[in-house]
Amino acid sequence: MNRYVIVGTGVTGVTALNTLRTNDPSAKISMVGDDPHGFYSRPGIAYYLNGEIPENQLPIFSKKDWKPLNVDIVKGVASRLDLRNHLLEIDSSSVLKYDRLLIASGSTAVTLTIPGAGLKGVVKLDDFEDTRHIISLARHANCAVVVGGGIIAVELVEGLMARGLKVHYFLRGDRYWPNVLDEKESRLLEHRLAEDGVILHYQTEAAEVLGKRGKVVGVRTTKGETIRCQVVAVGIGVKPRMELAKSAGLATDRGILTDETLQTSSPDVFAAGDVSQVHDPQSGKSIVDTLWHPALDKGKVAAINMTGKRNTYVRTLTTNVLRLAGVLTSIIGAVGSGVDDDLVSVARGSSETWHELPNTISLESNGDVNHVRLMIGEKNLVGAIVMGDQKLSDPIQELISSKVDISSIRNLLIPGAPLGQIIMDFWSAHKLPVRSA
Ligand SMILES: Cc1cc2nc3c(=O)[nH]c(=O)nc-3n(C[C@H](O)[C@H](O)[C@H](O)COP(=O)(O)OP(=O)(O)OC[C@H]3O[C@@H](n4cnc5c(N)ncnc54)[C@H](O)[C@@H]3O)c2cc1C
Repeated sequence: MNRYVIVGTGVTGVTALNTLRTNDPSAKISMVGDDPHGFYSRPGIAYYLNGEIPENQLPIFSKKDWKPLNVDIVKGVASRLDLRNHLLEIDSSSVLKYDRLLIASGSTAVTLTIPGAGLKGVVKLDDFEDTRHIISLARHANCAVVVGGGIIAVELVEGLMARGLKVHYFLRGDRYWPNVLDEKESRLLEHRLAEDGVILHYQTEAAEVLGKRGKVVGVRTTKGETIRCQVVAVGIGVKPRMELAKSAGLATDRGILTDETLQTSSPDVFAAGDVSQVHDPQSGKSIVDTLWHPALDKGKVAAINMTGKRNTYVRTLTTNVLRLAGVLTSIIGAVGSGVDDDLVSVARGSSETWHELPNTISLESNGDVNHVRLMIGEKNLVGAIVMGDQKLSDPIQELISSKVDISSIRNLLIPGAPLGQIIMDFWSAHKLPVRSA
């Protein structure tokens, strides 16, 4: 009987568990997790914070979903991995023996390192408990400062506004998320935030969090200003949880290094999800994605390989469809500007692919409310941002992932052209069955 151990009870770990159980019904499977809430929707915590969903909608599995998986859940921290003897230590007290092990330990929010960063009231939005903590602090607060760029910082801004706080939003640079969005897109979102009453501070960083009796009472900025507040919310990026892998001597870089089968530098140990940095034979690069669907796909592939079958992870188009500052937004493929953003590390809910400056021309629609930006290669679309009306999102995703040759409309895609209509017409025609003459 095979013994499998999975570290992490997130979407990667649970998908791997499901796949292992399907492929190896008699195996002994143990899953180690240090989050007391187990498996729940991590993207969902932002919607719990802003009051759109209740807490009881976050768990993904009920008791009856767990039963057929027949797994031994071990609550605690996987603290040491002994590769030679195939042993995993939990909380430095108990030990599990494994034949194959999966590290699906995800990533964790980067914290501030400035004076006062340890005060009560300095928060992050990483997990279930963080969200409860912010909600409870917000009951007794009237003002917050949010620092950081990317998706999480804006979710913090919106969540705190929804909880009735006045919010100051610090941006390190002169616009929001410059690595992924172009200037028009940044301004559109900043405008929406300002309209909702958010006070934006450009080229501003927190220099010190001020406290009294262990609690936050304000922030001193790098510009020398002091802002009175009771909450400082931090969304400056995430770092993969690699402690276990590093101390065991596994090869790591920005994540745990794996080949395309998700195998690490040790043959019986696999890594998948946010914590993994996966070799992509197509591009020759090794990439970290911190996105739900790639994590799920990797969990599946890793588990199949753990059972001894062979499967390779093929990167699909990295896409996120979400609401940013109230605007429905799809971020699809390579859209980056190559500009440095105001995050100190990898952003949560994103892909390194988005930061790439592709060898393309970039073209935008002129509409005010609904916005489309296309990244156009010689023969194909390679990326897009769709804001507002989302009817173009699926067609564009399909055209990019199927690498459809767009040469026939290439010369129509010029500044001022009705981009949306051209793409829609092309996609509709492309979907029609080819008729023989
Ligand atoms: C607020 C928020 C918004 C997001 N928005 C989006 C979005 O819009 N779109 C999108 O695609 N993705 C989004 N994401 C990212 C997405 O949730 C992650 O990519 C996904 O959850 C990664 O899954 P994972 O299983 O690899 O890691 P995780 O979900 O981080 O799970 C890892 C688990 O392992 C546990 N663990 C770690 N180390 C140990 C150890 N040593 N011992 C025991 N247990 C350990 C952790 O406690 C955790 O429970 C968002 C995430 C957050 C937090």
